[in-house]
Amino acid sequence: MKIKLVLIFCAVIFLSGCKTEKSDEPVSGKIVAVSSINIISDIVKNIGGDKVESYSICGVGVDPHSYHPKPSDPRLISKSNIVFINGFNLEHWIEEMIEGAGSGKKIITASEGITPITDDKGFGDPDPHAWFDVKYAKIYAQNIAKGLSEVDPTNAVYYNENLKKYLTELDNLDNWIKDEIVKIPEDQRILITSHDAFRYFGKAYGMEVNGLQGISTEAKVRTEDYKNIIDLIKSRKIKSVFIETSVNPKLLEQISGETGVVVGGTLYSDSIGNEGTPEGSYTGAVKFNVNTIVNSLK
Ligand SMILES: [Zn+2]
Repeated sequence: MKIKLVLIFCAVIFLSGCKTEKSDEPVSGKIVAVSSINIISDIVKNIGGDKVESYSICGVGVDPHSYHPKPSDPRLISKSNIVFINGFNLEHWIEEMIEGAGSGKKIITASEGITPITDDKGFGDPDPHAWFDVKYAKIYAQNIAKGLSEVDPTNAVYYNENLKKYLTELDNLDNWIKDEIVKIPEDQRILITSHDAFRYFGKAYGMEVNGLQGISTEAKVRTEDYKNIIDLIKSRKIKSVFIETSVNPKLLEQISGETGVVVGGTLYSDSIGNEGTPEGSYTGAVKFNVNTIVNSLK
């Protein structure tokens, strides 16, 4: 009798398709999608629904620019059916793992088709943070749906239905952001952050942006940029600057101390929030950012 119960218990665990606490190795038999960052893995969840197990290599609050892979990362990639990367040089650390996983691995660059903004503080590198223009997040979603349909053609109709619903959600988000940003007085529409993650956002929604560091957190802060930001805060009488969940806040807090400008809040830049919270999704994190920005600057 005991043995029978144990067997039933094991079967239930196996059939329920849960991953075990100890291991991040998928056991469900569903399509396994691995994304470099959780912004992308959340979009994959929205499109993949219950047909896909979606994993992110960079966890909550982890900075993808300076990420050092864990030993389990290459294992996860080699077990996956499809890998989604952002592209625009965000995840240079993933190339070796993909090569190690052998040829034939399906790799999708979520930003494909987007013309990047280039870095004006570096060497003209592409700015990877394209997801902050919601129009571009729609391109991410389309590329993701196409990739999933290619590895799992049986469920292509399902993925496309989910895509349609998600695109409507993104259109609504895009319109909502536009309505919110105009609540900030025009001369206060300046977003000062730790690193330059919001240039696509600024361009799309009419805000000047200024990051202390360039488009990568790996870049050193230049004395002139530090000084320029202090001058800008003083000359434009800026009320608030913003730190980020995945970036060390030290220098902006120092600027706050020197100028009296308030730290208006912590924004989600290169990571969304904890799973199970409203900010644990791409759309929720963007809404949180916009509410934080508008409440601090209006
Ligand atoms: Zn970044």
